[in-house]
Amino acid sequence: MKLEGSCHCGAVRFTVNAPSPYPFMRCYCSICRKTAGGGGYAINLGADRHSLRVSGEAHLSVYRARLADGSTSTGERNFCSRCGSALWLYDPTWPDLVHPHASAIDTPLPVPPDRVHIMLDSKAGWVEPEVRDGDRCFDDYPDESLARWHERHGFA
Ligand SMILES: [Zn+2]
Ligand SMILES: [Zn+2]
Repeated sequence: MKLEGSCHCGAVRFTVNAPSPYPFMRCYCSICRKTAGGGGYAINLGADRHSLRVSGEAHLSVYRARLADGSTSTGERNFCSRCGSALWLYDPTWPDLVHPHASAIDTPLPVPPDRVHIMLDSKAGWVEPEVRDGDRCFDDYPDESLARWHERHGFA
């Protein structure tokens, strides 16, 4: 699925091909919550980095998160330096992938039939995850990738 995305002020726009476009995975970790998840979690999609086309690249900034052990995350969180919108995550450890934030996508996304809630050990106390029948919950990392979830549901 080809996705179009943009930041709020419009300085940065992008298109990307996303084999994993269902916004099913909600991450409650403090990095997602503080950088991109005002509701308590953020949702990333799975896309092909080689198809990523960006306009307004000069307005991009990158944040590399500080981890609990004091080291710096290899993940590069790209955001608009003018308006602060979180746009996508890229980690050179997986050079073929890029993870756009569902919140930055303008193309209508498909509604997932079930959701996966991850990093629940790190969620803020005020956040009440909206867990429905069929959803799966993990205290830390999930046991299934974005791509495998799509395969299992026949969306790949
Ligand atoms: Zn912007
Ligand atoms: Zn997270």
